[in-house]
Amino acid sequence: DHEKEICIGCGVAIQTDEPGELGYAPASSLEKEQIICQRCFRLKHYNEVQDVSLTDDDFLKILNQIGTTDALIVKIVDIFDFNGSWIPGMHRFAGKNKILLVGNKVDLLPKSVKQQKLINWMKHESRDLGLQAEDVFLISAAKGKFIRETAAAIDSHRQGKDVFVVGCTNVGKSTFINRIIKEVAGGQDVITTSHFPGTTLDIIKIPLEDGRSLIDTPGIINHHQMAHYVGKQDLKVITPKKEIKPRVYQLNEAQTLFFGGLGRLDYLSGGRRSFICHFSNELDIHRTKTENADALYERQAGEILTPPKKEELKSFPELVKQEFTIKEAKTDIVFSGLGWVTVNEPGAKVAAYVPRGVQTILRKSLI
Ligand code: GDP
Repeated sequence: DHEKEICIGCGVAIQTDEPGELGYAPASSLEKEQIICQRCFRLKHYNEVQDVSLTDDDFLKILNQIGTTDALIVKIVDIFDFNGSWIPGMHRFAGKNKILLVGNKVDLLPKSVKQQKLINWMKHESRDLGLQAEDVFLISAAKGKFIRETAAAIDSHRQGKDVFVVGCTNVGKSTFINRIIKEVAGGQDVITTSHFPGTTLDIIKIPLEDGRSLIDTPGIINHHQMAHYVGKQDLKVITPKKEIKPRVYQLNEAQTLFFGGLGRLDYLSGGRRSFICHFSNELDIHRTKTENADALYERQAGEILTPPKKEELKSFPELVKQEFTIKEAKTDIVFSGLGWVTVNEPGAKVAAYVPRGVQTILRKSLI
């Protein structure tokens, strides 16, 4: 009975079914005398953390725990999917602790975007979402941009305390921590783990010079993210790998844009105007008359309008519609986890469609 096996690194119960979930080890490892979970294995041999995802319930326990600890909190969001990767209520969980907000994947945004403008935008949005961040940083963990500066700021803000790093899955938290490990720990053995009281969960601590730790917390799944509705290959298409090139469409009323088969925008009223589309360069955008749009989707979903793929259509949620009136100049219509469309002038009426479960929202334009 292997269900009772525990990892010698962190003490978590071993499971062999769900790679990427807590306690995973390949089935072959069960034959060994000492079993180590994949997360600890990577940490031990490569000094690399790997994200594991958690149920909401366990995650809440961890957040509550953080609030009762005297520490600095570093919250990471994906700047390409700001709202989709936001952890709601973080300010309540933080208690008295200070929060630094780090926007990752800045390399994906067009080069024309001014760094400082974007930081101001993040401050404004996070205040609207109820978070009073002590400071805001923009980084690219993958490209190693502004890591040093951010690490230095973390060090000065923590004032001798522990640091908790939190974020949704896929924001690049592991990539960021792995960069930090290389900066602060060098070749040191970083595998020190301990349990979160009240949970069966292990945390990974990266030792800091003064005996304190940088603590990696498991990522939480945001259920509104597009990533949960598409297959692995489709995820590659919709996840931008490099700087996104804005695509501009001049639309007349009663015209429709399809973003693959994952999103749709109907232009209802407001006169001829431009719509600036910010999506992965690999995602095809298709324009049609709104009166033909339903029939086109019926015929071409999984073909011209892809992703999703034909074979995925059966299990794919239907596209549901939400109508918006653009009241402010420079507004983004956000298709959570997919991208956004910027409208520069107020007065447009649109209908935005995404798979049931995914969110569409309006926000002040990011660019
Ligand atoms: P975690 O789930 O938060 O630990 O995220 P990971 O570190 O595993 O990264 C999730 C995905 O985002 C991976 O495909 C990374 O390659 C990618 N990623 C991480 N950091 C960056 C970044 O700075 N820029 C870009 N473009 N991609 C990144």
